[in-house]
Amino acid sequence: MRTVKDQLIVDALKEAQTPHNKITVVGVGAVGMVHAISILMKDLADELALADVIEDKLKGEMMDLQHGSLFLKTPKIVSSKDYSMTANSKLVVITVGACQQEGESHLNLVQCNVNIFKFIIFNIVKYSPNCKLLSVSNPVDILTYFDIAWKLSGFPKNRVIRSGCNLDSAHLHYLIGEKLGIHSSSCHGWILREYGDSNIPVWSGVNVAGVSLKTLHPALGPAGDSEHWKDVHKQVVESAYEAIKLKGHNSWAIGLSVADLAESIVENLRRVHPNSTMIKGLYEDVFLNVPCILG
Ligand code: NAD
Repeated sequence: MRTVKDQLIVDALKEAQTPHNKITVVGVGAVGMVHAISILMKDLADELALADVIEDKLKGEMMDLQHGSLFLKTPKIVSSKDYSMTANSKLVVITVGACQQEGESHLNLVQCNVNIFKFIIFNIVKYSPNCKLLSVSNPVDILTYFDIAWKLSGFPKNRVIRSGCNLDSAHLHYLIGEKLGIHSSSCHGWILREYGDSNIPVWSGVNVAGVSLKTLHPALGPAGDSEHWKDVHKQVVESAYEAIKLKGHNSWAIGLSVADLAESIVENLRRVHPNSTMIKGLYEDVFLNVPCILG
C-alpha cells in the first residue's frame, strides 16, 4: 500500500537534501534564543540546529519555533544534545555558559566557561570541520586570549570570530543618537580594545554624515569636556550591568548584535565590524578588538 506521500511525490531525480546555509546555535539560554529568532527573522539559514545540555528546554524551544514555521523561511529546525545533528553547519554560534550575575565581573566567568568550551569545540569540529565559529560567551576576549576556541578547533584564525565590541559600538551609536536626536544608524563611532569594562571609545572617529564631532568640539571625550561626552562612554560600560540588575540578565541587544555579525558572515557582505582578532607583533601577540572585515 503506497502512502499519501509516495503517491503525491515522485522522487524522480533522487536529489540529496543537504543544507546549503546551516547555522547551529549552541546554548538555548536567553542570548541563544534571541540570536536564534534573529537568524530566523533575517532568513539567514535553510536549516537551524539548536544544541544544549538541558534536554527538555532544548526540545521545548525547538518545538516553539517549529510551530511558527508558517511565518518563517527556514524550512528545517532541529535540536539535539547529540552533536551529530549539527553536522555540515556553515556557522556555529556559541552562546553557552554561566549567565553573568549581578555585580559579577566578566573575569570570574573564565574557568567555568573554559571547561564547557573544551567539550563543545571538540564536537563541533568533528561534525562541521569547515564551519566558522562565532563566540558570544563571556569574557569573549579572555577566552580567546587563552586561545581556547581557536587552539582547540585547529581552525585558521579567520574562522574563529568573537562578538567583541560590536555591541559596545552599537550601544555608543544609540547613545550619541539620543544626545543629538538622530537615529543611531546615522551616528558613527567605534569602541575598540576589549569587550566590556576596559574598552576604549575612539573619539576622533565619531561623526555624523562625515562631520567629525571632535572637529566641532575639540574637548570631546576626555574629562573636563563641558558637554560631558565622557558620560556617554561611561553609560556604554555601566548600563549593561544596570540592565542585568533590573531584569536579571541581558539578551536582546547582544542577540541582535550577533545576528548582525552572522549576517555579514553568511551573506559574505564584507562589512567592517569591531571584532576581536589576534594582533601579531604589536607589543606582543594578543587578541584585541579592531575593525575587521567579515565575509
Ligand atoms: P543562560 O544561562 O540563559 O544560557 C546559557 C545556556 O547554556 C543554558 O541554556 C545552558 O543549559 C547552556 N549550557 C551550559 N553548558 C552547556 C554545554 N556544555 N553545552 C551546551 N549548552 C550548555 O545565559 P545567557 O544569558 O544566554 O548568556 C550566555 C552567554 O553569553 C554567557 O557566557 C554570557 O556571559 C554571555 N553574554 C555575552 C554578552 C556579550 O556582550 N558578549 C552579553 C550577554 C551575555
